[in-house]
Amino acid sequence: MSVAVMLFTSDLRLHDQPALSAALREADEIVPLFVLDRGIRKAGFDAPNRRAFLADCLHALDAGLRERGGRLVVRTGDVTEQVCRVITESGARSVHVAGGVSAYALRREERLREGLSALRCALHVHDGVVTALPPGRVTPDGGDHFAVFTPYFHTWQDTAPRETLPAPRAVPVPELAGHPMPRRTAVGGVSPGLALGGETEARRRLRTWLADESHGIAAYDRRQNDLPGDATSRLSPHLHFGTLSAAEVVQRARAKGGPGADAFVRQLAWRDFNHQILAARPDASHADYRGRDDHWRGDEKEIAAWKEGRTGCPIVDAAMRQLLHEGWMHNRARLLTASYLTKTLYVDWRVGARHFLELLVDGDIANNQLNWQWAAGTGTDTRPHRVLNPSAQAKRCDPNGDYVRRWVPELAELAGPAVHEPWKLDVLQRDRLDYPDPLVDHAEGRARFERARSLG
Ligand SMILES: Cc1cc2nc3c(=O)[nH]c(=O)nc-3n(C[C@H](O)[C@H](O)[C@H](O)COP(=O)(O)OP(=O)(O)OC[C@H]3O[C@@H](n4cnc5c(N)ncnc54)[C@H](O)[C@@H]3O)c2cc1C
Repeated sequence: MSVAVMLFTSDLRLHDQPALSAALREADEIVPLFVLDRGIRKAGFDAPNRRAFLADCLHALDAGLRERGGRLVVRTGDVTEQVCRVITESGARSVHVAGGVSAYALRREERLREGLSALRCALHVHDGVVTALPPGRVTPDGGDHFAVFTPYFHTWQDTAPRETLPAPRAVPVPELAGHPMPRRTAVGGVSPGLALGGETEARRRLRTWLADESHGIAAYDRRQNDLPGDATSRLSPHLHFGTLSAAEVVQRARAKGGPGADAFVRQLAWRDFNHQILAARPDASHADYRGRDDHWRGDEKEIAAWKEGRTGCPIVDAAMRQLLHEGWMHNRARLLTASYLTKTLYVDWRVGARHFLELLVDGDIANNQLNWQWAAGTGTDTRPHRVLNPSAQAKRCDPNGDYVRRWVPELAELAGPAVHEPWKLDVLQRDRLDYPDPLVDHAEGRARFERARSLG
């Protein structure tokens, strides 16, 4: 009986799972293994929202494997150590794992390679499991990665993706002991409105998204920035944990066709774009991709107000409170709050990125750090010094103020778009509101930023 280990990481699914399919082709039995990695906690990447969502994902994966005659083996500890133990206990001759792009994933892979070679066990790293196209699959002439999105997108679109794969019918698993499975309810500090995780939920959400004519993919080109309408897919945590395959989502969206699908697929290409940058420049997780000689401010009171949604700028406060409540935020709201922190307040993007990673259920090094860099103008934005005007953006993306009223109850009595600029009310009206004055006037903040970047 030949045995292979399938080491799950950011690919917690059975459908379109190239690493699992390869393991099943190679061996008679496989050990579907997930290691609750102590190193992730030490690296500070272990946020309660993601831990709770992960617990859902592991339960769903276990259930899916049981339907196919197998089960998930969970171990806790150091990944290499646990994998080596499983190899010794099961007599496995090879390990299959998805290729990652973060410095952490690359180090894990290197350590696995060392540990496995001592046991004479093969390591198969599968690219293109986490993204629709593997990083490095499309490159510009003479370069190792694209630094600008539009030319990347044109090449990405013209490149044939791999064939997607069906879920296996059966997964034979040998007898092997596991550690207890984590439970969502045992995790403290979770956002009360956190979404459900797991492959079954992911596939249900994808089906609904593809079929819904008014809130789904068909309307995405028109409703993408409709903050109160909440008409984006909310698939990001599923793509982050790999309960959905990006390649499958792209394929099914393309099959749907139309301007909504085109706009949606373009966003998925942004995800691949960020991953190919991080793969080529792992230090972009913490170092400026393009240095601007910034001397950031760091007023702790302002930073705390931003985190708690008390800046006095209603659209920013609404978004920050949504993040606290759900562990998720709309893309337009992420852009607005990031621009506000890094440009209007002129605070280092790393401060904001860290806070997002502490809360976001889809918190992802490639997407989070590179979007923060984009918003701060140290990344790939071709207009790096633009400063978003939160009130103007709010009037466009929340024209009646419903999004603000939903998240900032102190302003609920203000009707219509007046909710976006409470500082324009007369003094008596303002005094009645239990809501702070703005930390900074937008024009002043902008002028300060432009002076700092030597633009004005
Ligand atoms: C400051 C900032 C931080 C961010 N941090 C993260 C993060 O940690 N993890 C994360 O997955 N996304 C992040 N994003 C990107 C984006 O905001 C989210 O992916 C999106 O809001 C998720 O909601 P959705 O699934 O409904 O997106 P949809 O609008 O339905 O888009 C579909 C998918 O496309 C991808 N996508 C959409 N927009 C982007 C984008 N700008 N960059 C990369 N991929 C994108 C996501 O995988 C998303 O699920 C960040 C954006 C900003 C501006």
